[in-house]
Amino acid sequence: MSQRMQQGQPMIIMGDDAQRVKDKDAQEYNISAARGVAEAVRSTLGPKGMDKMLVDSMGDVTITNDGVTILQEMDIDNPTAEMIVEVAETQEDEAGDGTTSAVAIAGELLKNAEDLLEQDIHPTAVIKGFKLASEHARDQVDELATGVDADDTETLKSVAETSMTGKGAELEKEVLADLVIRAIQGVTVAANDGSHVVDLANLKIETRTGRSAGQSDLLSGAVVDKIPVHKDMPTGFDDAEILLVNDPIEVEEADVDTAVNVESPDQLQQFLDQEEEQLREKVDGIIESGANVVFCQKGIDDLAQHYLAKEGILAVRRTKKSDIEFLKNVLNATTVTDIDSVSSDHVAPGTVRHDTEDELFYVEGEDAHGATLLLYGTTEHVVDELERGINDAIDVVATTVSDGRILPGGGAIEVEIARRLRDYADSVSGREQLAVEAFADALELIPRVLAENAGLDSIDLLVDLRGAHESEGTNAGLDVYTGTVEDSFEAGVVETAHAKEQAIASAAEAANLVLKIDDIISAGDLSTSSDDDGGAPGGGMGGMGGMGGAM
Ligand code: ADP
Ligand code: MG
Repeated sequence: MSQRMQQGQPMIIMGDDAQRVKDKDAQEYNISAARGVAEAVRSTLGPKGMDKMLVDSMGDVTITNDGVTILQEMDIDNPTAEMIVEVAETQEDEAGDGTTSAVAIAGELLKNAEDLLEQDIHPTAVIKGFKLASEHARDQVDELATGVDADDTETLKSVAETSMTGKGAELEKEVLADLVIRAIQGVTVAANDGSHVVDLANLKIETRTGRSAGQSDLLSGAVVDKIPVHKDMPTGFDDAEILLVNDPIEVEEADVDTAVNVESPDQLQQFLDQEEEQLREKVDGIIESGANVVFCQKGIDDLAQHYLAKEGILAVRRTKKSDIEFLKNVLNATTVTDIDSVSSDHVAPGTVRHDTEDELFYVEGEDAHGATLLLYGTTEHVVDELERGINDAIDVVATTVSDGRILPGGGAIEVEIARRLRDYADSVSGREQLAVEAFADALELIPRVLAENAGLDSIDLLVDLRGAHESEGTNAGLDVYTGTVEDSFEAGVVETAHAKEQAIASAAEAANLVLKIDDIISAGDLSTSSDDDGGAPGGGMGGMGGMGGAM
């Protein structure tokens, strides 16, 4: 595309395939693309939310309830829809939970914005109002948040359980929440100023199939899913001297293509002797370092294995990179990158135990650094979804410990903020006032969808919730199991203030980004999708990776 000016008038020359959509059409197009994405994840929200089965182009199946996972697997190639996916990704990075809520709110903001645009309210007024409302809402989050101590195990458990509800982790949520709390407390250090720092680098999740989730366990140190490289090796040491090696313990091949000309049996012998000599030297270096355990990220030659076994050294080959990285933390060690220069400086003390039944090594450092959450699930799909749920729980508990602010869930906080936003709207002049009110309505999508997904009457319940907030107070939320209003805090439905602030901020920003666009100039065809039902003018959700119908 080239641009040039003619008599002060910009003239835009576009390619043959190029398409242009302007003003209202552009807004409609974008809004419906974004809403399509938001609607795709809505039905997963909350404890009664459903799961999605995602099949990628290779036929691999993912079954999940996790907002960001669904959107990432959907392979969306509509640029506006991608902005909404970014909301989920930002939420995941910043808060670790609340991705479905953030995306659903963004979609609802745009839906409400569309109504305002139809009433001929200018997009800039809507954008301004949304911005004011978003700022005010976040101030209210902070005002409404309750402080929680890092050692308040009971409350932290509620936070963990709330983030697990509706996920695969829910069935065993008490056992798992307990593990998560202990895991986080194990990697938390109190700073001098009284704050708490959670070092998640010291915590690793290891997944295994074949047992039920309830048998998951928290182990101190690292777990390495491997067996000794040679059957005659010892399988562990209470007084292990451990080496982490990122270099093959093999003969150095000068060049793979180098031909060795052997003209006599003597020469062959000499050549083999040389190789043997080289391996012997490498093993001698290990012996001299004082090590009795070697975790090698690369291969170990058969002969070297034999030498090591004879010396009573335990060696493991092809240890995963992530395991070596974690072992470095656990042992406070450095890796040996050149085995020929190994020394006693590289050796770290600890204990190594092998579970022959599970074929796992348990490795602990001398001052018990780091922990591993060993997660079990009956099958691969089960354990994968479990891991996503546990990751959310770990993130929210870590945030709660370091940030120290929590809120009532179950839609309570959204109804309260909406109420306060409506009060605030009275102080906002002009058309922005309508946008602030629209923002309040959008937040109430959360309790509405929680009710809908539980098969309850969302309109009646929203009326009840609003009433309860007028008369009873700020913690009135939805009991999705009975369809009544409850004190969500007392019911143990607790969320982090940080995740809520982030969800509101990123939803508002994404909505405003979409609303600012009044002109779409596309180098290609905008209507590439055949099975579009998003209702976007000119096609909408182009190419939802063959999943369109399943949503
Ligand atoms: P997200 O990706 O936004 O975290 P979830 O599917 O995890 O989506 O649902 C989170 C919502 O579910 C929050 O509004 C939370 O308060 C609500 N929630 C979680 N557990 C309960 C519960 N036991 N009762 C009512 N609401 C709950
Ligand atoms: Mg969640």
